[in-house]
Amino acid sequence: MERFELNILGCGSATCTRRHMPSCQVLNVRDRLLMIDCGEGAQLQLRRLRLKPSRLSHIFLSHMHGDHVFGLPGLVSTLALLHCDGTVVVHTFAEAAAALRVFIDTFCYRLDLNLRFNIISPEGGETVLDEPGYTVSTFKLYHRVPCVGFLVREKPKLRHINGEMACFHGVPTYAMQALREGADWVAPDGRVIPNGWLTTDADAAVSYAYCSDTAYDRRVARAVEGVDWLYHEATYGDDAAPKAAPRGHSTARQAAMVAREAGVKRLIIGHYSSQYDDETPLLAQAREVFPDTILANEGLRLNLQYPSTE
Ligand SMILES: [Zn+2]
Ligand SMILES: [Zn+2]
Repeated sequence: MERFELNILGCGSATCTRRHMPSCQVLNVRDRLLMIDCGEGAQLQLRRLRLKPSRLSHIFLSHMHGDHVFGLPGLVSTLALLHCDGTVVVHTFAEAAAALRVFIDTFCYRLDLNLRFNIISPEGGETVLDEPGYTVSTFKLYHRVPCVGFLVREKPKLRHINGEMACFHGVPTYAMQALREGADWVAPDGRVIPNGWLTTDADAAVSYAYCSDTAYDRRVARAVEGVDWLYHEATYGDDAAPKAAPRGHSTARQAAMVAREAGVKRLIIGHYSSQYDDETPLLAQAREVFPDTILANEGLRLNLQYPSTE
C-alpha cells in the first residue's frame, strides 16, 4: 500500500496562542513531502513530527496572509543550514514569489538547494503538479484577499496479481503489467483467461482537499465534490457567527455544511480563532450537520488511505 498520510503542523489562525501554531500541514505521498501553507515555526514543527526536511519537494501557499506564509524564510534558512541539495518548488502567486525571492536572496544566499517558484493563478482551476501517481490542482476560495484551495488526487491504481492463478495459467512475467492494467490474458493456444480470474481489485484512489481561508460558499462545495477527505477552516463557532463572512472566514457549522453538500467522506476542521481555549463546542456544532468530523490538532497524523468509518 502506497503511503498517503496527512500531518498537521499548525491549525491556529492569525493571532498566535499558546495552544496552536499557524497554518501548516504536510502530506507524505509515497515518501515525498508536500507542504501546504507554511506558517511560522514550520521548520520547528517538521522536527517535532520527525518529518525529514530533505524529503520536502513542494510547498503550496494558499494566499498572502502571514499566518500561511511567514514560516517560509525560516524553513529555507534551515534547509540551507542542513545543506539540503534537492529541488523544492514553491507554488504561489506572482507577487508573493517576487517578495519571497528578495527575502530569500538576502538572508539565505548560501543555498545548496534548487529553490524554484511556480506561479499559480489566484483564480484556481489549474493542475499545478502532475506526478505519476497523483495530481495537485487548485480551486478558488472566497477570502478577503485572493486565495486558493488545493486538491490532491491519487490517480487510479493498478490491480493486484493473484500469483497462484497467474502461475496456474502460465502467465509469463512480461505480461504482468498488462494484467495489472486490466487486460485479459490470451494463452498461446488462443484461450482467453479473464482478468478477473488473475487479479484482484486495485486499492481505492484517495483524494484530499484543503480549504483555508474562506467564507462559506457553495462554489467551494462544488469544487471539492466527492473527495474522501476535506480539511476546511472553522475559525469561529456559532457564538461568533456574525464575524465570519465579513472577515472572509467560516464557522464550524458552515464547514460541515460544505462537507455535507460536497458529499465528502470525512471532514477535518481547523484554523481556530484565538478566542477559543477549547474547540470541542466547534466540533459538536459541526457534527450536528456532518457527523464524520474531527478536530485538527498539532501532531495529528492521519493515514488517508482509510477514509471510510464503516
Ligand atoms: Zn489564516
Ligand atoms: Zn487569510
